[in-house]
Amino acid sequence: MQLQSFIAGHWVSGIGRMSALCDATTGELIANASSEGLDFSAMLEHARRVGGTNLRRLTFHERAARLKALAKYLTERKEALYDLSYATGATRADAWIDIDGGIGTLFVYASKGMKELPDGRVYLDGPVESLAKGGNFVGQHIYVSLEGAAVHINAFNFPVWGMLEKLAPALLAGVPAIVKPATATAYLAARAFRQIVESGLLPEGAVQLICGGVGDLFEHLTCQDVIAFTGSASTARKLRTHPRVVDRAVRFTAETDSLNSSVLGPDAVTGTPEFDLFVREVVREMTVKAGQKCTAIRKAIVPAGECAAVLEALRAALAKVVIGDPRAESVRMGPLASLAQRREVLEQLARLQRESATVCGQGELMLAGADAERGAFVAPTLLHCNDPQGAQAVHEVEAFGPVSTVVPYRTVDEAIDLARRGEGSLVGSVFSADDAIAAGLVLGLAPLHGRILVVNRHCAKDSTGHGSPLPHLVHGGPGRAGGGEELGGIRGVLHYMQRTAVQGTPDLLTAVTGRWVGGSRELDPLVHPFRKTFGAVRIGDTFRSGEREVTLEDIERFAALSGDHFYAHMDEAAARRNPLFGGRVAHGYFLIAAAAGLFVDPPLGPVLANYGIDGLRFTQPIRPGDRIRVRLTCKEKSLRIGQGYGEVRWDTQITNHNGLTVAQYDVLTMVSERDMPDAPPP
Ligand code: NAP
Repeated sequence: MQLQSFIAGHWVSGIGRMSALCDATTGELIANASSEGLDFSAMLEHARRVGGTNLRRLTFHERAARLKALAKYLTERKEALYDLSYATGATRADAWIDIDGGIGTLFVYASKGMKELPDGRVYLDGPVESLAKGGNFVGQHIYVSLEGAAVHINAFNFPVWGMLEKLAPALLAGVPAIVKPATATAYLAARAFRQIVESGLLPEGAVQLICGGVGDLFEHLTCQDVIAFTGSASTARKLRTHPRVVDRAVRFTAETDSLNSSVLGPDAVTGTPEFDLFVREVVREMTVKAGQKCTAIRKAIVPAGECAAVLEALRAALAKVVIGDPRAESVRMGPLASLAQRREVLEQLARLQRESATVCGQGELMLAGADAERGAFVAPTLLHCNDPQGAQAVHEVEAFGPVSTVVPYRTVDEAIDLARRGEGSLVGSVFSADDAIAAGLVLGLAPLHGRILVVNRHCAKDSTGHGSPLPHLVHGGPGRAGGGEELGGIRGVLHYMQRTAVQGTPDLLTAVTGRWVGGSRELDPLVHPFRKTFGAVRIGDTFRSGEREVTLEDIERFAALSGDHFYAHMDEAAARRNPLFGGRVAHGYFLIAAAAGLFVDPPLGPVLANYGIDGLRFTQPIRPGDRIRVRLTCKEKSLRIGQGYGEVRWDTQITNHNGLTVAQYDVLTMVSERDMPDAPPP
């Protein structure tokens, strides 16, 4: 079977010399791939003209809804992916990380898109900046979608996750993607991609696929395109210095190879839960995906006094790992993805072995249901580097397979130093129940790590593990790890957007952002906005209340009701000594309650519920005899698609009789799309 690329809505076969893609266990041919003869310029043009235009027509919430539907669609068809995944050498547990992990990433981005992005196309960065006295000239940072294509170049080890973890943030940002999976396992990525196309859930042009090389694609990139690369540091270097990338300042993110460490704390001696957890984690990181994880533990840094015990515990645990055909249920570790990878790993391993002793992994491989000659098998190999200060290779060489080196340390500072000698890593972990020691390690490691995991007996059961990047947290690292960042929730979306500082009047900013900015025009003061349905409420609709005096009796009744008898409200003599108040003042929470009494419109209507307050600040005390009034302005709306209601955010300001702001906050309500709720009140 020849793998096809997907270009401008059509499946297309390349011509010329084919790469043969083989089953990692049996060596049988699975597919051929070539992208020669494809029109890469047309691909970019289609992404920009059709895909980008279609995606940018949708709001963040509409894009998020499509991601969620896609995640459900793929979930229903994932067994076909699991079946094919065995050919890459993955066990079912390995494939779970790749396939369910990838689909899970889509779900998380869909959910975050709904909850953390506005129901619009512009994302706001930070608050409005006041740029002149009088408030008529203000500034706001906004993010808008780039108008180019996201070029996703992926590594061979996670063909499905690697594709979906890049697609989710790009599509949410409104940027179409051109996916180029690593050729060795492109058959699995292509199968998942075909499902995406068949779902019909993404707009035309949103995704395209290259099976094979990228040809002259880079020659046609512009500053509106983004390259997100995962793979080796040497390829990253080649691509980020491509003349076109340099000339046009094309955005380039790289996740490259990384020497990750795990540190066993000095407190975590033999017999402690942390010691056992550390051993389990190192074994897991060596054997999951046969160690072909960019995040795997390459250096296990342990107290010198525990070194012998750690080596023995790891050796014993590794001896129990069943290696063989990943289709067999008893097998815990399959082969590497290809014979080429095995050659590469064995070469790197030989470099490490020049400086480190081999504790286990040498000798004949005992395989379950597989032939060592045909499959790309490498035994889990544990090394011991007794002189990590003098050694070089252990700090430089990544054997991208089931290989780890145990490294002893004498002081915590030395442990930090040894981990930092990876010169930039994706992840580090610490196993310690002493939070002071662990905190010192975290702060010492942080400048050179993208993510740090601390495990102890209290969180081990819930820990997501050293090697698992999560969509909520950044994945990436400085220096050798590529200097890039992916995922991290909405941070990952912003890589595909342009940040622009906009200056002008408040009304201009309201028009640009779709969010009411203080000082902008107030609309419809005559109709109470709580009488309006979700669709009828407009940004800027304002209600201004009448006045209410706050009395001493109010304060005392509120204290009795709430049980809050704080001296500043209840004891005149004590309150006089308070430098901020100089006498009794009303409870802040009373003011919020009294404000609701001033702005609420009581009869049954489209407002269904008040579900919270954001950003509450009390800025002036209110004394007995002072008078307050409230302004409520519709600031932002967000429809909950398919639920019959939406969220309305009201900019709320309480002022005193001198016009000074007493409290400022956002009231959040759920407002029905219909005039009255359908169901009669209970
Ligand atoms: P690689 O050779 O750099 O390949 C990575 C990707 O780049 C593949 O899709 C490859 O396509 C493509 N590529 C290679 N040369 C290219 C070129 N001249 N122009 C455009 N694309 C090109 O990496 P690898 O050796 O397969 O992968 C293993 C490495 O990736 C390991 O070192 C590992 O640490 C790193 N990795 C890092 C992460 C991470 O998240 N940081 C994750 C996984 C792996 P072809 O397959 O068609 O050559």
